[in-house]
Amino acid sequence: MIVVEDLPDQFKPRTLYVVGENEPYWLAAFVCPCGCGETIQLPMITGQRPRWTLDSKGTRLPSLSPSVDRTVGCRSHFWIRAGKIWWC
Ligand SMILES: [Zn+2]
Repeated sequence: MIVVEDLPDQFKPRTLYVVGENEPYWLAAFVCPCGCGETIQLPMITGQRPRWTLDSKGTRLPSLSPSVDRTVGCRSHFWIRAGKIWWC
């Protein structure tokens, strides 16, 4: 997991980017783990829906909830738990 102020132009694979200067961060973004190459962005803004919650004990093992269920493209459905992808 990398904390950034702005999203990079090019995403590294298997890297979770969280955007914001400090917690609470407002956006999580990463390349879809299925290999389709698309970028997934998950808003984490309090009070907005949908909204994902980041649980990072340090930056090494981030967890996101709820699960990521893509309704477009590859339609991947998975959880990110402790830095790992768990396919549904
Ligand atoms: Zn995909």
